[in-house]
Amino acid sequence: MTGRRTVIRGGLVLDPEGRTALQDVLIEDGRILAIVNPGFEVSDDAEILSAADQMLIPGLISAHTHSHGALSRGAIDDRVSLEMFLTGQGASTRSRGTDDKYLSAALSAAEMIRKGCTACFDLTVEIPGPSQQGISAVARAYHNAGMRAVVAPMIADRTIYQALPGLLDALPDELRSHCAGLSAAPIEDTISACSDILENWEFDRRWIRPALGPTIPLHCSDEFLIACARLASEHGIPLQTHLAESRAQAALGRTRYGKSLIEHLEELGILSERLSAAHVIWLDDNDIARLGQSGVRVAHNPSSNLRLGSGVAPVRKMLRNGVTVGVGTDASNTSDGQNMFEAARLASYLSRIDGFASDEWISAHEAFHLATEGSAQVLGFEKIGRLTAGYEADIVFLRLDRPHFVPLRSPLIQMVFAENGASVHTVMIGGRIVFHDGTLLTLDESLLRRQAQEAASRLDQANAGTYASAATVARLVGAFCAAQGCTGHTLPRKLNLTCEA
Ligand SMILES: [Zn+2]
Repeated sequence: MTGRRTVIRGGLVLDPEGRTALQDVLIEDGRILAIVNPGFEVSDDAEILSAADQMLIPGLISAHTHSHGALSRGAIDDRVSLEMFLTGQGASTRSRGTDDKYLSAALSAAEMIRKGCTACFDLTVEIPGPSQQGISAVARAYHNAGMRAVVAPMIADRTIYQALPGLLDALPDELRSHCAGLSAAPIEDTISACSDILENWEFDRRWIRPALGPTIPLHCSDEFLIACARLASEHGIPLQTHLAESRAQAALGRTRYGKSLIEHLEELGILSERLSAAHVIWLDDNDIARLGQSGVRVAHNPSSNLRLGSGVAPVRKMLRNGVTVGVGTDASNTSDGQNMFEAARLASYLSRIDGFASDEWISAHEAFHLATEGSAQVLGFEKIGRLTAGYEADIVFLRLDRPHFVPLRSPLIQMVFAENGASVHTVMIGGRIVFHDGTLLTLDESLLRRQAQEAASRLDQANAGTYASAATVARLVGAFCAAQGCTGHTLPRKLNLTCEA
C-alpha cells in the first residue's frame, strides 16, 4: 500500500554536494522517496509535475526572524542602531489585537515563501507579555500559509533602561524619571503564560513547533534566564536568544557581569545544544571556543547586521571551532526584504573582508549549505534542508531563463551570487504546492494587503504618542550606546565606528 505519489520530471536537481543533474524527483506522502534518472516509470495515479528549464533546490530556511516585524515595516527611521531600534520597537508593536498578530505573521510567511524560504525560527513579541492566544494566532498563520516554523514567544523581564547599566544616569532628568518608571511584565506572569503555551500546543510538530526566546541576556535577569532554560528542558524544546549582537551589548555585559556574555551564560548553565544564538558578533576567541564546545548553534543574520550597523560576525572562526551555523534574515523591519538568497550571498561576501586568505572565504556552496542544512539544525528539524530520499519534499523551483543563469555553467554559484528570489516559480512544502507562477495559493495576498494598510493606520494613530517619545529617547540611547566600548574594554571585532576622543 503506497500513499499519494507525485513525480517532478525534468528539473535540474541540486544535490547536497552542490552538483546538479537532470533528474526526476519521486515524492510520497510529502517526503522525497527517491531521486532517479529521467524517465522513471510511475503508476497511472501519480501526479506528474514538469520542471523543464527549472532548477530544483531545497527550500531555504531562515534561522532567525520576527513575524511581528512585518506589520511594523517602515515605522522606524532608517538610520537606527540596534538599541535605537529596540527603543522604538514597543511603539510599533503595542496595541495589537490577536487579528493583528495573525496578520503580521501571515504577511511575514507570504514574503518568505515568495522568496523561496520554506521554514523559519520566529521570535515573536507581544506587549505587554506572551499569551496563548497570540502565539496560537502566529502559529496558525504559518499553518494556513503551509510553511514550517518554530514559534517562540520573545520575552524579557527588564526594560532597555533596566537592561543597560548606566543608561538611566545618562538621560536628562525629565526623561530619567519617566523611563525609570517603566517596567516589563513580571517573571511569574511571563513564565506561567509560556508554560500554558507549551502545555496546550495544538499544532502538528512535523510542521510547527514551540520554543522560547529570552530575547537578550542583558534584558533578562539571571533568575528569568534560568527559569526559561528549565521550562525548555522540561518540554524538550529549543531556546533562542540574541547574543553579543552589538558592541554596546558586549561592553555593557562586561560592566554588568564582569565577564563576557558567553562566559556569563556558561556560568548559568545555559550554553547547550538546546540554545541557539542570533547574530553573535562581538566575541573573542575564548567565547567562540566555548560556543563550539557546548554545542550552541548560531543564526547568522548578515543583512540585519549591516542594516543596524551591528558589525560582521566571525563565521569562519565559528565554523573552525565546530559551531553549527545557520543563516537568517531577521525581521522585515530590520533587513527589510526577508530575502534568504540575499542573506546567503552576504554570508559568503562578508567572509571576504575578514582578513582571511581566499581559500578560507565562505564559498557559494558553503553559504547555501548554511542557509539550508545549517539553519535546519538551528530549528531542530532533522529532515529538511536537502534534496535527498527520506527528506521532506520542501522544494523550490527556479526558472533558468533569467539573465543570471544565462549562459548556464555553474548553477549553484550563479544562484547564490545573483538570485534575488525573482526566479522562484513554484514552492512546494511537504509535497504541497503553496506558490505557483506568481501566485501564493494558500493565503489571499490582496486581502492581507488591505488589512495591513488598515491596521497600519489604526495602530499608528493609537501609538502616535509612544512613537513621538520613543524617537526622542532613541537618539539619546543611540548616543549612549555608541560611546560604549570606545573606552575601557577592548573588543576584538573592529569596525569603522568613530569614537570621540
Ligand atoms: Zn532578531
